[in-house]
Amino acid sequence: MFEKVLIANRGEVALRIHRACREMGIRTVAVHSEADADAMHVRLADEAVCIGPARSSDSYLNKPAIISAALITGADAIHPGFGFLSENADFAEMVERHGITFIGPTAEQMRLMGDKITARKVAQEAGIPVTPGSPALESVDMAIEWAHKIGYPVIVKATAGGGGKGMKIAFNDEEMKEAYTMARAEAKAAFTSDVVYMEKYLQKPRHIEMQILADKYGHVVHLGERDCSIQRNNQKVIEESPSPALNEQQRKEIGEIVRKAIEKIGYTNAGTLEFLYEDGRFYFMEMNTRLQVEHPVTEAVTGIDIVREQIRIASGAALGYTQDDISFSGHAIECRINAEDPETFIPCPGKITEWHAPGGLGIRVDSEIYSGYTIPPFYDSMIAKLIVHGKTRNAALMRLRRALEEFVIEGVKTTIPLHQEIISQAEYIDGQYNIHWLEQFMEKLKLKQNQSK
Ligand code: ADP
Repeated sequence: MFEKVLIANRGEVALRIHRACREMGIRTVAVHSEADADAMHVRLADEAVCIGPARSSDSYLNKPAIISAALITGADAIHPGFGFLSENADFAEMVERHGITFIGPTAEQMRLMGDKITARKVAQEAGIPVTPGSPALESVDMAIEWAHKIGYPVIVKATAGGGGKGMKIAFNDEEMKEAYTMARAEAKAAFTSDVVYMEKYLQKPRHIEMQILADKYGHVVHLGERDCSIQRNNQKVIEESPSPALNEQQRKEIGEIVRKAIEKIGYTNAGTLEFLYEDGRFYFMEMNTRLQVEHPVTEAVTGIDIVREQIRIASGAALGYTQDDISFSGHAIECRINAEDPETFIPCPGKITEWHAPGGLGIRVDSEIYSGYTIPPFYDSMIAKLIVHGKTRNAALMRLRRALEEFVIEGVKTTIPLHQEIISQAEYIDGQYNIHWLEQFMEKLKLKQNQSK
């Protein structure tokens, strides 16, 4: 087992990794930007190294600085968390070249699954159902030709895509011309590669993803699904496990398909296969070769510490259990709480003057925040994840309502009021929602507010 792990990230996930290491008796090294000297994970880690100025490109994305920090402190492994360098195959390769273990899949596996076109091909060949789609598009004419083959509506996507960027929907040829040009431009700006392709655009799907764990000896298990359909701008807002849309049989079926496919691909460490789900059918979208923000809902229903498993697998340990050993218990829901205006979604960094996190049975709060902490304006606006677990979905919902009420965050605006609105809606309570539900609901909310003004 590793003796010292460097955490190449910030915020709540850095703390999450620190906690797993601590429980495993592993020492931790925090790296941080000049803006994060006061961060909780920096305070708690055994050692801390400043790796550059506030801008992510100068610090959390600064590969030589991070690797130097690992060498100087004698860390034997690096956990990349999510975002930043977590899906950067070049970084993983560079880390390994310096004799340090990258906690994640191999660089080769990351490259394979990091490109959406290749990932779709690999998944399909391994028996996973995918959305009908095109190869890389080289011109508007080619895009139109493929749109006719697949049938409108279609969605143009960046093959290097992530974070909902570089995606454009087209319902006809006219819209396709614009969608193609805009998706390329957006992809170029966000990912440097402007390669785009298209997929059939499903009109009322749910986003359901499967969590897997795979060791270096070919053992693979799935940890069930997460329903992440409550989204805004293609970004997840609330996630839950199990999905209210699946029954036991469907879960088993998709779980087995995924498990066998991962065995065949020979992928290692933790990963997530994202699907759209419509009318009883699954369509593979992409694979995330890293820890996901919403992993705690899976931990709540399986009792498995996913970060711990990532570290064990990377160190060469075998899983030590099979699919039959995994049981699912109860229901878990996660709310992503952002420091944002709940109506305009404009980020709201600043000083937290008061902080009281909810507690009690079935409540977990993953956050780097403490009273008196100042949220820097340079990074993601997510400041906390509230995860609740109950015996049934209804019990989890009641607990969530109570926990949101109890949460006190003063000094900055947060999205807590939005979460309270969402979970009090009949459709949410009944589990009757798809990926468009939240945006449609917010439109209605706005109309109502305007009318009452
Ligand atoms: P990213 O890598 O940027 O997160 P994804 O491919 O995972 O992009 O898609 C993000 C979201 O966009 C999905 O959760 C879904 O809401 C929407 N989406 C993506 N592909 C489709 C599709 N073919 N049809 C309908 N919605 C889609």
